[in-house]
Amino acid sequence: MRQISVAIDGPSGAGKSTLARAAAGELHYLYVDTGAIYRTIACGLRRLGVDPKDAAAAAAALGGLRVEIRYGEDGLQHMELNGEDVTGEIRLPEVSACASAVSAHPAVRAHLLEMQRELARKENVVMDGRDIGTVVLPDADVKIFLTASPEVRARRRFLELEQRGTPECYEKVLAELLRRDYDDTHRAAAPLRQAEDAVLLDTTKLSFEESLGELLRLIREKI
Ligand code: C5P
Repeated sequence: MRQISVAIDGPSGAGKSTLARAAAGELHYLYVDTGAIYRTIACGLRRLGVDPKDAAAAAAALGGLRVEIRYGEDGLQHMELNGEDVTGEIRLPEVSACASAVSAHPAVRAHLLEMQRELARKENVVMDGRDIGTVVLPDADVKIFLTASPEVRARRRFLELEQRGTPECYEKVLAELLRRDYDDTHRAAAPLRQAEDAVLLDTTKLSFEESLGELLRLIREKI
């Protein structure tokens, strides 16, 4: 039987992962956070001392990085790098910065493409990322482009970092987010953009509950 796939793309801090995970829970679908996969590659390259901007060095190192996704009993997506759980490490700010640079290389994207498609072939998925509706799952049953203003996204990230016990000043968070927006939308390989058949969901003025309600309504309307 053909599985159902929901593709959610959008810029950093739009609330994609929290909303996609909650929607997947409601629908009893598998939630796939593709950013975590790119972060795991970035983590591996950092450990090897590879310059994240060096496309040739990154491509050459890929063969030595075994990336696996495991779903724990908690239902959460755990990332493993050569057999080691790096789920916590991939969220460090230095890995975030590196992931953005690493994900611009076509060789890295090609290397991870099949892994993402394979998951969607086996399970009903809610998959989030930057190029899911445009490149990874162009035939997805539902495509959503989730966004919010940069200031609101930076405010949310600022509060998240504070709650996590790793606070950063708001101006720095906003500057970093704008830089990632620029990098993600201007790279040559699979830049972040809204697929022509994606529905835009702007959560700037919505609470989490309102955003989730709207997201589920859009998904249920299509499937
Ligand atoms: O979504 P998240 O912030 O965890 O993603 C980390 C980085 O991976 C992003 O900066 C983005 O450049 C990249 N990414 C990507 N394509 C995806 C998912 C993430 O290029 N499908």
